[in-house]
Amino acid sequence: MSDDCLFCKIIAGEIPSDKVYSDDDVYAFHDINPAAPSHILIIPKKHLADVKSADDSDQALLGKLLLKANEIARDQGLEEAGYRYVINTGRDGGQTVYHLHLHIMGGRGMGWPPG
Ligand code: 5GP
Ligand code: ZN
Repeated sequence: MSDDCLFCKIIAGEIPSDKVYSDDDVYAFHDINPAAPSHILIIPKKHLADVKSADDSDQALLGKLLLKANEIARDQGLEEAGYRYVINTGRDGGQTVYHLHLHIMGGRGMGWPPG
């Protein structure tokens, strides 16, 4: 828990969120400003500022983040049409919240490259 972190406050329930999934390790919730018809964020409960802050001790956690994202994508009915995962990192990556999060986006054609 990082005291000044928005997503740590969401995990703690201090800021409300529209929960999709929770267990001991990860938390998933709807993005407040969806960029696609289905836009969910999945985050580790452990505070990691960004993906490059992870180290070898986080190997299982990062694997779980992806595997749970797969389950969520399936549960949201995105599997057949497909979906996109995004991890923005740092300024040029467009990261605005410095608690590692994986965007799960689907429900429309996303196009490539992104704008
Ligand atoms: P980033 O740009 O850091 O990759 O993504 C941060 C995401 O968090 C954005 O898509 C933004 O809409 C979302 N977000 C920011 N504040 C909140 C909030 O208070 N609640 C929820 N549910 N999403 C948020
Ligand atoms: Zn945090």
